[in-house]
Amino acid sequence: MTATAGQAEQLWSRCAGCATLLYRKRLRRNLDVCPECGEHSRLGAPERLRLLADPGSLRLLPDRVPEADPLEFVDVLPYPHRLTAARAATGLPEAVLCGTATIGGHPAALAVMDFRFLGGSLGVAVGELITRTAERALDDRVPLVLVTASGGARMQEGALSLMQMATVSQAIAALREAGLLTVSVLTDPTYGGVAASFATNTDLVLAESGARMGFAGPRVIRQVTGRALPEGFQTADFLLRHGQVDMVVQRRSLRGCLAALLAAARAGRPTRTPVPRQEPARHHERLAEAIPSDGQRPSAGDGPQPTTHDAWETVRTARHPGRPTTLDYLDSVFDGFVELHGDRLGGDCPAVVGGLARLASRHVMVIGHQKGHTTADLVARNFGMASPAGHRKALRLMRLAARLGLPVITLVDTPGADPGINAEEQGQAAAIAENILTLTVLPTPVVTVITGEGGSGGALALGVADRVLMLQHAVYSVISPEGCAAILWPDRSAAPQAARALRLTAPDLCRLGVVDEIVPEPATAAHDDPAETARRLRAALLANLLPLLDVPPAMLVRLRRQRFRRFGATRAGAQVGAR
Ligand SMILES: [Zn+2]
Repeated sequence: MTATAGQAEQLWSRCAGCATLLYRKRLRRNLDVCPECGEHSRLGAPERLRLLADPGSLRLLPDRVPEADPLEFVDVLPYPHRLTAARAATGLPEAVLCGTATIGGHPAALAVMDFRFLGGSLGVAVGELITRTAERALDDRVPLVLVTASGGARMQEGALSLMQMATVSQAIAALREAGLLTVSVLTDPTYGGVAASFATNTDLVLAESGARMGFAGPRVIRQVTGRALPEGFQTADFLLRHGQVDMVVQRRSLRGCLAALLAAARAGRPTRTPVPRQEPARHHERLAEAIPSDGQRPSAGDGPQPTTHDAWETVRTARHPGRPTTLDYLDSVFDGFVELHGDRLGGDCPAVVGGLARLASRHVMVIGHQKGHTTADLVARNFGMASPAGHRKALRLMRLAARLGLPVITLVDTPGADPGINAEEQGQAAAIAENILTLTVLPTPVVTVITGEGGSGGALALGVADRVLMLQHAVYSVISPEGCAAILWPDRSAAPQAARALRLTAPDLCRLGVVDEIVPEPATAAHDDPAETARRLRAALLANLLPLLDVPPAMLVRLRRQRFRRFGATRAGAQVGAR
């Protein structure tokens, strides 16, 4: 390229919407919105903060972030190399920039994601920084504004990135409880784990003109369904038409719009005294100690220590068609199951079953993904991939359990949430996000067992629990090994390598603190001896559930929050303190 061509390129820019050649300074003056066709080009986090904050009001929050490579992840490049390159390219330490500011004179805490930094992916550091911003909003008693731009969870941090969906969601739940407004502003693009958590479980959801948001990306949906996508699929106007956002806002109107919302929230907020924190009785302190919450865990019961299996071999075992399903366990582990149907909003999803049952004569609510053993079963159950109706049915049953004072047991076995066109139209991301948030505050004991496949956000929608158990040959992952291989390796045949890199086996997840206990499987695997598997699962459920029954609900919720807060905090604390 000649010097002249290079200079010309700096002066001019071609609009991605209408291909008009635009003078760059003019485009900048117009907030990077094409004056010809209105195309909103993407903004980095620094520009976005300048755009939203009143001049001179922005105070950036400390952004020293943990050096997180918890999995020592290597695909064709080691993960730290990718981080270094992203930092050099953007000048940012991570994919989010946080601060406090006033917007139209109203104070707020802001976290703004930057898509240029590894696709705005949600990792431990990003989750930690957003959580701290939410906690700052709570301390200052001001609203929280989140501006999202993300491809989803960060694969290179595996299940720990998945946990951030819960960590940030529970910080949002705390603001909800305190009567403080939370607003998310969806910018282009917002997908995956970010869409299925804090982008949609805020009080208000605004979409910037031209933004697209969804749980599954268009490429995945086309691949899975084999169908062409409708015109304008997942765009801001589509989201508005399908009831998923409060409004679509032009970039130039965004600050004024936020100012008006913050003003209303400030006017309406009753002055209330903060609820004093309940101090636990000594007895309950001891119980709290019995419930591990510091990354330590007891060994896998009195069963044999799990033998080391190759991760890919474990993936295949977890997907074995003979593996017991939720309905099998409802028959073998529980008694007197009474199935409850429907989301009360127009649907009943066959991929999720739930209802009342007894576990050793104790009444419980059981909710689980249902696959099947034959192709016909699997098709009828949508392969255990829940629709929004399935997530909303689960939500209804969780809330009902809490009202009745019954503990909740969830059985997770899903390749992931349904990535279909209808699922997107019906708000898959928001349905998952609401379940995650609700579980972080559900005032009744929750025990989760990953029985087969724990696939990403769909698994976490049933998996935010006081105790998370995992069958020995189950897997739990932020993305399928095939999906990960397709993105980070030259092709899908690298799935076995991806399976190893993702650290998705029970022993790995126990080490990372994502899972509390492994339930050993008999013989070679659960499908060889379902009766013995059921006996072991029942014993493990009782051992984990019984101590929780004596813990007062407020204490349970507090301990559960500590459990999901530690994935960022302990690492960040250790790293920052070491500097
Ligand atoms: Zn244009």
